Amino acid sequence: MAVRKRLIVVGDGASGISLANRVRMLTNNNDVEIVLIGSNPTHFLKEDGPQIAVGLKNYKNSVKNTDFLVNFGIAYIQDEVVRVDPANKTVSAKSGKSYDYDFLVLALGGNIFAEGIPGYVGEARHFHDLQHAQELKEYVEQFKGGNIVIGNSPGSRMNPYLTYEFAFLISELINNKKLASATKLHLISGKDSDSATDAIEAKLKALGFEVHKDFDISGISSKNREIQSSDGKAIKYDLLVLSPPSSPEEVLVTSGLVGENGFVSVDKFKLNLKNYKEVYAIGECNDAPVPKCLGSSLHQAEYLAKMLAHKMSGAYYDSNYDGSSISSILIGDSRSVTVYSNYNKLPAPTEGSFTDHMLNITSTETYFSAAVRGVF
Ligand SMILES: Cc1cc2nc3c(=O)[nH]c(=O)nc-3n(C[C@H](O)[C@H](O)[C@H](O)COP(=O)(O)OP(=O)(O)OC[C@H]3O[C@@H](n4cnc5c(N)ncnc54)[C@H](O)[C@@H]3O)c2cc1C
Repeated sequence: MAVRKRLIVVGDGASGISLANRVRMLTNNNDVEIVLIGSNPTHFLKEDGPQIAVGLKNYKNSVKNTDFLVNFGIAYIQDEVVRVDPANKTVSAKSGKSYDYDFLVLALGGNIFAEGIPGYVGEARHFHDLQHAQELKEYVEQFKGGNIVIGNSPGSRMNPYLTYEFAFLISELINNKKLASATKLHLISGKDSDSATDAIEAKLKALGFEVHKDFDISGISSKNREIQSSDGKAIKYDLLVLSPPSSPEEVLVTSGLVGENGFVSVDKFKLNLKNYKEVYAIGECNDAPVPKCLGSSLHQAEYLAKMLAHKMSGAYYDSNYDGSSISSILIGDSRSVTVYSNYNKLPAPTEGSFTDHMLNITSTETYFSAAVRGVF
């Protein structure tokens, strides 16, 4: 009789839950034990942040208890992993418990590191977690005119397209509130642009945004209410919405699993760590050269679940993760664009359409009922 294998998934975000659910559907409980360890009892669909901030979505629909999302047959343990020891195939948790594994998947996401930009804390707003999305909503409601400055921080691992979505939505809101003549909209365009960004920025320019190309953010002055660049430029703001810098999860650093770039280095096709073939990293924490977004995280979970299900049953799986990624951005006027890419196809946005818009605004329901559960 074959020995039952143990798969440990660390991280109860979008990619970890989706992977665990998918592996459960593809394997027999007698053959594979699945343990999901995570520290987040409440799951917030981060994609909804910009729409919550402009009052398009009610936050209550974007939050669920995490254990509600984990399928039957998975041991879900709420704990914080404090040490990963791939040489001895164990992970240790804050509770003092240790777990052995046959296969390990790291799905730890990343951290907001607002302190990474001098002056950020207290001055800049964002929508990257529920608390800040709701806080930003209040600032947006109180806004009566002036300079709105929107941008991505250098080194942010947050999905850059979401900042654009917020820019489109705030522009529409300002028009609806008849504040356009009293408002100047600015978009900071950093150096991390890709082939899709130019096309999207052109649309924002047409809406009246002043686009500040290659603005290398160096700090924020609360005294002058301006954001500054390394080469001495400055933009005044009344409302500053800046996607925050990121840092890797502490446990990945203390376990020596991240490189200088802050990511876990993986084979971009197989998603395993180079020195440990039975350890994988998916989603926001790995260095696969794809947009850091839900669309790439779920594609990685789908690929890896199939691969692990084959591997744990002793079957051969001759397929690779092809770098697939998909992001959808509301652009106002009941239209959305979708950005597809893979390792052979540079990111390119579709033309804005009402169909894409409908898919986007119903994405909360699709996510909770199907995507995170491993059913598409
Ligand atoms: C505001 C915002 C909007 C976004 N919008 C979009 C969008 O429209 N489209 C899109 O495609 N993508 C979007 N993204 C990106 C997308 O949400 C992420 O790529 C996706 O959530 C990554 O999933 P993940 O599982 O890798 O990480 P996460 O979702 O961050 O999950 C990591 C999990 O690990 C847990 N964890 C961390 N440390 C430990 C530990 N030591 N022990 C145990 N558990 C731990 C955390 O609690 C968390 O539950 C958005 C992101 C943000 C912030």
